[in-house]
Order: sequence, then structure tokens, then C-alpha cells
Amino acid sequence: MYQCLLGEHVKVPWRSVMCNNRATPKSLFITWLSLWNRLPTRDGLVTWKDITTDCCPLCTNEKESAAHLLFECDYSAAVWNDILHSLRFSRRSAPFDKELIWVLKATKRTGDRHKLLLMYFAECIYSIWLQRNEMVFNQKCRSRPSDILLDINL
Ligand SMILES: [Zn+2]
Repeated sequence: MYQCLLGEHVKVPWRSVMCNNRATPKSLFITWLSLWNRLPTRDGLVTWKDITTDCCPLCTNEKESAAHLLFECDYSAAVWNDILHSLRFSRRSAPFDKELIWVLKATKRTGDRHKLLLMYFAECIYSIWLQRNEMVFNQKCRSRPSDILLDINL
């Protein structure tokens, strides 16, 4: 009966990104939304909300979508590149799907650097989302890409 009440559990391949991640709860929630492709970006909002533009508020060059925001946008790619560099990973930012696969592989390794990678991955997504919201609602640039790493301040 108990198992019936619980229902079926779908094992998602990215669960290790969420489990044992020491990022803040807010960061984990936004990361969870992005993993389910549920961030309310302008490309989805334009169909049912009265918004005037679907332009990315961070770079103003492309249509805003979850895929663009993480990490095809020059701004967010710069933030993620700074984090990768600070953790001494010799790679450049790629689109979210590729970064997720790489992070999942990396989390199978042990060590503090890989735990930090997992945490910074979630904090990076949250920081980009905060910056995006600051631009949308207050038209203010909260931080330059290079300052986001300092803002995260774990
Ligand atoms: Zn952009």
C-alpha cells in the first residue's frame, strides 16, 4: 500500500547533480527548474503574457530561451568560463546539455575539486538567473561576468 501511495519514481539521469550538492537551496531549486527545462524565459512567456520583447536581457543579441541563457549567451558563457578557470578545469563553456553531461561525468570522481564543481554549477545557474531577473525587472546590470564569481562567495 505504501508503495502505491508513493507512485512510480522516475529516475532521472541528472539526479547526481542534485544529490549531495552543497549549493544553497535557492540555487538548487533554480538548477532543478533548468534541468526540467522549466525556467520561465521570454521565449515561452511571449505566447501567454503581454511582453514586448523576447530578446535576451543579458546580451540583447539573441532570443531568450533556456538553452541560450545557459550557456550559449556570451554573458553566461563568460561566467561559467571564469568558474571553470578558477577550479582549474581546462575547458571552455559549451551549451547546457554538453556541460551537464560533462558535469555528470566529473561528479563520478571524488575529491574536493569535483564537489566544488557540482556546487558552483548550481550557484552559477542561480547567479545567471538573478542577473537576468535584475535586467528584466530593474534594467540594472547587477554584476559584470567577472564579478559573479565574487558574488557567489561560497
Ligand atoms: Zn544572451
